[in-house]
Amino acid sequence: MPAVETEILIIGAGILGAATARELSRYKADVTVVEKNVDVGWGITKANVGVVCQGRDTLEFRPEYHRTRLLWKALPLMEPLCKELEVPFKRVGAYLMIRDQVLKEKLDKLAKRTESLGLGADKYYPYPELKEKEPFISPEIKGGLHDPEIAVVHPVYLTQALMENATRNGVKLMLETEVTGIRADHTTFTVLTNRGEIKARYVINAAGEWVDKIAAMVGADDFVLFPIKGYVGVLDRNCAQLAGSLLAVLPEEPGDMNIVVPTVEGNLLFGIQLQINRRHDRSTTGHMARLALRNARKLIPEISEKDVINSFCGYLMFRNFEIGWHECEVAMSERVPRFINMTIGYPGVSASPGAALEVVEILQRDGLGLEPDPGFDPKREDIPDFSLLSERERKALIKRDPRYGHVVCRCETVTEGEIVEAIRRGATTLDGVKFRVRPGTGRCQGGFCGPRVTRIIARELGIPETEVTKSGGASTQVPLRTKQLLEKGGADG
Ligand SMILES: Cc1cc2nc3c(=O)[nH]c(=O)nc-3n(C[C@H](O)[C@H](O)[C@H](O)COP(=O)(O)OP(=O)(O)OC[C@H]3O[C@@H](n4cnc5c(N)ncnc54)[C@H](O)[C@@H]3O)c2cc1C
Repeated sequence: MPAVETEILIIGAGILGAATARELSRYKADVTVVEKNVDVGWGITKANVGVVCQGRDTLEFRPEYHRTRLLWKALPLMEPLCKELEVPFKRVGAYLMIRDQVLKEKLDKLAKRTESLGLGADKYYPYPELKEKEPFISPEIKGGLHDPEIAVVHPVYLTQALMENATRNGVKLMLETEVTGIRADHTTFTVLTNRGEIKARYVINAAGEWVDKIAAMVGADDFVLFPIKGYVGVLDRNCAQLAGSLLAVLPEEPGDMNIVVPTVEGNLLFGIQLQINRRHDRSTTGHMARLALRNARKLIPEISEKDVINSFCGYLMFRNFEIGWHECEVAMSERVPRFINMTIGYPGVSASPGAALEVVEILQRDGLGLEPDPGFDPKREDIPDFSLLSERERKALIKRDPRYGHVVCRCETVTEGEIVEAIRRGATTLDGVKFRVRPGTGRCQGGFCGPRVTRIIARELGIPETEVTKSGGASTQVPLRTKQLLEKGGADG
């Protein structure tokens, strides 16, 4: 197979790779993204609570930290970016609360620091006033500092939208393409993948959990990472009234996180229970679940185990404990010219537009002439969300395409029209459809709509249902057709 040639190769289509690809698509540059999964945004970005933090929500955002600077660079960009790409962005605000009056002094210090950094004045609400704003919070809470700017996004939607727009503007995306080795000479990287070699002048390593391993393939591992596993629980949408804002308890130690977060879709998330762990073990354990639930109930006693409809784990890649518990690396390797590493433990989603800009600046400083592309189209149209439309809009949509009149997922009111559009935009699996238009995210978790979505995917892609997978690889859902199963059973006696 002849080698693919590209000027810039991005490894990984998570939020950082996608944001960088989209930023580079503004220029006349030859950019290719390789992603080992069957879809984009399925690495750490999938296991995320979606908070667009403002750099003042913990004591950890010191101005001298690189990630703070990236975050501040990103702050004015995120909302306009979501508008351009038609990705939901909701400013929910946040309360950083205390359970012990002794900690009020710490909150005051934090408020002063926020103000002195020019990030606005956060107001303190003692419990009785706080309860008027958030009626379900525990009476054990003494009060909380209000940050009105905190917002939420859906990190996977954002990643999909960024990649969709980047490919529309000329970036090439190679899915199911895993990097297995890298050779470098004075001018070119030869990147080995399961689909053959790719020759590139620049490599941007945005491989998330595996960023250090990829860097080590070419000797560009100038940093050490510690994977820390985080647990997040998902509550049914019928709990939405329990919290209108992000509710968090002031961390008494770094990494001590206890939050409840409203999502753009109206569910509540709770966690994050952190644990040093082997990487790539994404399993959720009963112990983490119990701990997270117990902590969430300290914030909102009404949260019930019965309403937990899902849970997930992901990895925060912490850079080095000595220089802040999750400092980042967005830099050209000092050992390997033209090789850029990109990793942000937290807040990778919030800082992603800033990190993407920084990579463009690094490339320009290195002498890569990036000429703006006059044909760049920053806009992307979202898939219509039938459940949110008015009666009149629904009728007009059904008139245009009757498949919008056929509801496939009853929990989330998702229509066949939306599912077909998700497939047209790149979804090839059940999770691909779920992460674009939500069938299977409701209370039944796909129990009822899963087989119907499988049938639609098979029909649209022209493949047998037995080949439709949950998330690529060997994750097929229908091992045999019933007739074949009966025949097999008969043959086995
Ligand atoms: C529980 C939890 C909650 C979080 N909450 C927030 C939050 O609220 N707000 C916030 O801003 N941040 C949050 N973060 C941090 C944020 O999720 C990460 O910083 C961000 O998602 C990292 O994105 P990434 O693109 O670097 O990595 P990834 O999303 O992991 O992307 C890397 C991609 O590279 C691909 N890849 C890996 N190896 C290879 C290979 N060999 N070949 C080809 N492709 C490869 C992977 O498949 C993956 O798709 C949270 C993290 C966790 C774990």
